[in-house]
Amino acid sequence: MNRKRIWAIDVGLIESFNESAKASSPNEFASAMREENGVLTELVFLPGSIGSFTSATVPLHMLPIDFSLAGTVHSHPGYSNRPSDEDLHLFGSFGKVHIITCMPYDITSWRSYDKDGNEIKLEIVDI
Ligand SMILES: [Zn+2]
Repeated sequence: MNRKRIWAIDVGLIESFNESAKASSPNEFASAMREENGVLTELVFLPGSIGSFTSATVPLHMLPIDFSLAGTVHSHPGYSNRPSDEDLHLFGSFGKVHIITCMPYDITSWRSYDKDGNEIKLEIVDI
């Protein structure tokens, strides 16, 4: 099991979730994320989470036994990347790092949060 702190995100992952967010708009996009050595590296699509990622709809009991799963990313089809009450509930139930991206879905439109909804800073790396 990897217990390393998440400290960075690959720039390619940012491009991936923003592309997916644009494609899903005006609906929400949602996915889990994988990490490697403390760096968020790729999206991991979960069954049943397409278009919605509220705590009520994400099938947490269906999550694969995969300790490289670091957390979640979802989009807000508006201009706020602040977590909603439902988002905070989800953050507290699974994972270490949670990202919300919003319009216009560019390199500066996302924020990352810990399981309590406190904003955390991630370095952007290119791997
Ligand atoms: Zn949300």
